[in-house]
Amino acid sequence: MNCTFERVFFDRVLLGEQEIRERVDLLAKELATYTDDDGFVLVVILKGALMFAADLSRRIPSQCSIDFLTVSSYYGGTQSTGNVHIVDGHSAEVYGKKVLVVDDIFDTGLTLQTVVKFLEQKGAQEVRTCVLLKKKKVRGVPFEVDYHAFEIEDEFVVGYGLDYQGEYRKLPYVGVMKT
Ligand code: 5GP
Ligand code: MG
Repeated sequence: MNCTFERVFFDRVLLGEQEIRERVDLLAKELATYTDDDGFVLVVILKGALMFAADLSRRIPSQCSIDFLTVSSYYGGTQSTGNVHIVDGHSAEVYGKKVLVVDDIFDTGLTLQTVVKFLEQKGAQEVRTCVLLKKKKVRGVPFEVDYHAFEIEDEFVVGYGLDYQGEYRKLPYVGVMKT
């Protein structure tokens, strides 16, 4: 931590660069049984998953196409609003394909539940989901993420793609905000 804003707003670093790199390496291996078929589609949920998806996709050896969904869910501040909608999903060509959805964090579960339903309606053959972070909490929705890199406490985190009001996405580590 060397910037003033980080000292002011950060409680602590939760996951450092090295730790993230090592875990993403392992996760790519865990995914191999699903992703070793050439031709699957990796669907990135914008904007939060950008760093994770860029790093993970480059560690998956097989061929895949990469597509994007813009989903608006959340967070006027640090709480979910409970409304999820797909702002832009028309580019995702998934008909008849195996799909791996990559998102930053699994919180209430509403985003991924909505995204999976959407991709199934578009005719995807199979859809699995993968997140960098999964929060330890009781969720209201009957939906479980298939793969996660780290399980964390129910705290608001930023960095490595995750933002607070549009800031902090570029940080190479994940940190906990001061409450
Ligand atoms: P869910 O729909 O599972 O409640 O939330 C998913 C989305 O909420 C994530 O993709 C992310 O954009 C946002 N989110 C949930 N928890 C956090 C958090 O701790 N920090 C940040 N920056 N975003 C979060
Ligand atoms: Mg998101």
